[in-house]
Amino acid sequence: MSDVAIRLTGIKKHYNAGKPNEIQVLRGAELSVGRGEVVALVAPSGAGKSTLLHIAGLLDTPDAGKVEIAGEDLTGRSDRARTNARRSQIGFVYQFHHLLPEFTAAENIILPQLAAGISRKEAEARAQELLDKVGVGKRADHRPGALSGGEQQRVAFCRALANGPGLLLADEPTGNLDPATSDQVFEALIALARDTGLAALIATHNMELAARMDRTVRLQDGVLV
Ligand code: ADP
Repeated sequence: MSDVAIRLTGIKKHYNAGKPNEIQVLRGAELSVGRGEVVALVAPSGAGKSTLLHIAGLLDTPDAGKVEIAGEDLTGRSDRARTNARRSQIGFVYQFHHLLPEFTAAENIILPQLAAGISRKEAEARAQELLDKVGVGKRADHRPGALSGGEQQRVAFCRALANGPGLLLADEPTGNLDPATSDQVFEALIALARDTGLAALIATHNMELAARMDRTVRLQDGVLV
């Protein structure tokens, strides 16, 4: 297995081609994140963080450049190949938790595992193990609506890691929480990443949180510095 979880080379992306509001968001962004490395992605709002994360997560395609996941070049591969790679190798966390409201915390983590062909028994055990790790094991049978914002977001981390991806992409994962909760939830995320040895790219506005990661990259004028 490659020691590089993700490598982005010469990524370019623009929107609104040929219109007055045409915008070149990425102008040759380069990034490489090693296995076990937790990297902060810092940039002002509107600089292109979400665009970069969507391209890194194979949800969007760049105009130019290369996206390699675990050593495999996925540029120009079929939708199916990209979807498979995304499902098996990448976990996503967004600012809002996006948990399914009619299912319990545990079920939200079990469902993606069942979809990946894991037995119910194994999926249940893994869900409980993940919830315990982030300190919400006792809330496993609660629906998201009965959980606090911080708890919901911890459950969302567990769901992102349900199928053991090698790469976690997070877009302002604690942006919706008050500072104290944000701090705790962030610690839980880092601990989980360290524990599972996955690579993480975490977009944040918060420089204090960024300082706790292994490395910070800044998105400036369409390139990463
Ligand atoms: P960030 O996540 O750093 O706030 P985004 O990646 O969301 O930045 O957006 C970067 C720029 O690209 C913004 O100016 C935004 O308006 C523009 N943009 C993003 N997505 C689209 C789209 N689908 N169509 C047109 N413009 C877009």
